[in-house]
Amino acid sequence: METHYNCTSTDWRELLNQSVIDAESLTQLFPIIDSSSIRFVLERYPMRINPYVLSLIHNPCDPIWRQAIPDIRECKDSNHTPDPLSEEFQSPVQGLIHRYPHRVLFQISDQCAMYCRHCMRKRITGKSLSYVTDLTISQGIDYIQKTTSVNEVVLSGGDPLILDDHRIEAILSEISRITHIEIIRIHTRIPCVLPQRITLDLISILQRFQPIYINIQFNHPDEITPEASFACKLLADSGIALGSQTVLLKGINDSPDIMKQLMMKLLKNRIKPYYLHHTDPVQGTHHFRTTIEKGLEIMKYLRGNISGMAIPNYMIDLPGGKGKVPLLPNYIVNKNKHMWIIENYSGELSEYDIM
Ligand SMILES: *Cc1c(COP(=O)(O)O)cnc(C)c1O
Ligand code: SF4
Repeated sequence: METHYNCTSTDWRELLNQSVIDAESLTQLFPIIDSSSIRFVLERYPMRINPYVLSLIHNPCDPIWRQAIPDIRECKDSNHTPDPLSEEFQSPVQGLIHRYPHRVLFQISDQCAMYCRHCMRKRITGKSLSYVTDLTISQGIDYIQKTTSVNEVVLSGGDPLILDDHRIEAILSEISRITHIEIIRIHTRIPCVLPQRITLDLISILQRFQPIYINIQFNHPDEITPEASFACKLLADSGIALGSQTVLLKGINDSPDIMKQLMMKLLKNRIKPYYLHHTDPVQGTHHFRTTIEKGLEIMKYLRGNISGMAIPNYMIDLPGGKGKVPLLPNYIVNKNKHMWIIENYSGELSEYDIM
C-alpha cells in the first residue's frame, strides 16, 4: 500500500483541528488497520495525527507510521510501570520535577501536536486528566521563585509550544522575571510534527527571553522535511540555539546508517545533536526498546564516521529518578600504572603513556 495524503493547510490551528483522533477516521484512511484494536488502545492512550504528519506516512510500518499509529502491544505490557523514573515522587508541586540541584523540569502543557506512541510520559500526555492546569502552572512558578538554588528551567510537557502565543509569553515573562533564573530551555517536538506552528509571531516572543535554548525531538531523517527545515531555519536565524534529542527506537532508527544520516541532517540544519536517549522502561512502550549493546554499537560507529559536532551523548535515565548517565563504548582496553591501552574508532589499539 502507498498512501499519498496531501496536506493543504498552512495554518497550525486548522491542522490541529483536522487531526485524526478516532478509530473510524483512521481506518477510513488506512483500511488495513483493525479498528477494534485501535479502539481498545485509545481507551488507554489517545491518538492525534494531524494532516501534516499524515502526509509523511507512505507505507504501513514506516518510521512515521510506527511513531503515530496505535499498536495493540501498547496494552500488552504488564512488566513495566507507568512512571519508572519516579517523576511524580520528585515533583514538589504537580507538574514540576526537581531532580537535580540547579535545574527543574516544568510541565506547562499536557497536550501535544501528535501523541507519540513511544512517549515516556504516556501516563499523562493527551489524557483528560487536567494534569497541567493554570493552578499547577502558578504553583510551579511560585516554587521556582522561592527555590533560589535553581538557575535553569526546562519547559516541557506535553509540548510547551502547543500553547497559545499569549500563554507562552505570559509564562516566559514570569519565569524570566525571577532573578536567579539564568537560562530557559524548551523541550518540544513541534518543529518536527507541526512545523507550521513556528510562526514569526511566536519567534518574536521567544527572542525576547534570551538566552533561550530549544531542544527538538527528531527520530528519523525523513522527519526533516522542507517544512521542518524551514521552521528550524526561522528559529536559528532569530538567534535561538537549537539542539536535538533523539529516542533510540526499535525498527525506526536502531541502525548505524540511519542514525548517521539523521545526525548529519540535524547538523546541516544547525541543530546540534544533544542526546540520544535509550528508551525508558515505561509501560506501553516496550516494543520500542532495543538493547544497550545496540546503542553502544551505533555510538561506536558514529565516532570516526561523522563530524564530532554531530555526535550526541548516549543517555540512560536511571530508575527511581537517580538521573541521566552518559554511556560510552569501552575505549579503555587495559590499564596499568604507567600505560593505558586504548582502542580507536576503527578498532586499532594504542599504548598511551599516562605519566
Ligand atoms: C532530563 C531532565 C533534566 C535535564 O537534564 P539535562 O541533562 O540538563 O539535559 C532535568 N530534569 C529532569 C527531571 C530531567 O528528566
Ligand atoms: S511530543 Fe513529546 S511529550 Fe508529546 S507525546 Fe510526543 S514524546 Fe510525548
